[in-house]
Amino acid sequence: MPARLNLVVLGKQGAGKGTQCKRLAETYSIPHVSTGDILRAAVKADSALGREVAAVLEAGALVSDDLVIKLVEARFEEPDAARGALLDGFPRTLAQAEALERILGDDGVKLCVDLEVPIELVTARLSSRRVCQECGSIYRDTDISAISGTCEKCGGDVIQRADDQPDAIHKRLETYERDTAPLLEFYKSRGLLVSVNGDQAPDEVTGAIMTAVHERGLA
Ligand code: ADP
Repeated sequence: MPARLNLVVLGKQGAGKGTQCKRLAETYSIPHVSTGDILRAAVKADSALGREVAAVLEAGALVSDDLVIKLVEARFEEPDAARGALLDGFPRTLAQAEALERILGDDGVKLCVDLEVPIELVTARLSSRRVCQECGSIYRDTDISAISGTCEKCGGDVIQRADDQPDAIHKRLETYERDTAPLLEFYKSRGLLVSVNGDQAPDEVTGAIMTAVHERGLA
């Protein structure tokens, strides 16, 4: 096992990055680092950071590279990231990918998984997505917890994310194509990219990612 298992998961919004990262983090005992979750938690806590980014998040735009790079740098200083991390939603621009190489140094990104899902499917998934504000559980709009507005797991409020409204979805997917899709070439040119079909059952997606990790002798 390498000293650090740093895995980057790329894919359009709604491709299933969060779901897969949660599972893989447990399997490999490394933290799931989601910059979106960190930023949303700051907004919810109404911290100085939260107040700074709230409007940007609601509009579905990207917060500044400097800000997220500092957040991720600080996150990697926490002891639980000593063995690596599953990066979800970071890097999202070339500047962030370059900063990540600097932050991780020699023992850098070991694999970049591209979760491939057609645009029609992610649009449908995002429009019907509902989330628990307390525990982060994801529901469909047709699930009981979504209809009742109360999470069956923790009793928290189940809501639709502001950025899962149609205008914001469109903007986020455009931003992905413009700013994040170029990262595929960045990791491909380093021999680190593996593409996985995200349009299959969650267990099958997890299995395909784990196969790629094992084939490379990473775990
Ligand atoms: P999604 O990928 O579904 O848009 P995330 O939870 O990953 O959702 O991110 C939510 C929002 O947080 C983004 O729309 C953006 O405003 C902000 N954000 C998250 N990660 C980054 C990042 N690496 N760079 C800039 N903004 C980010």
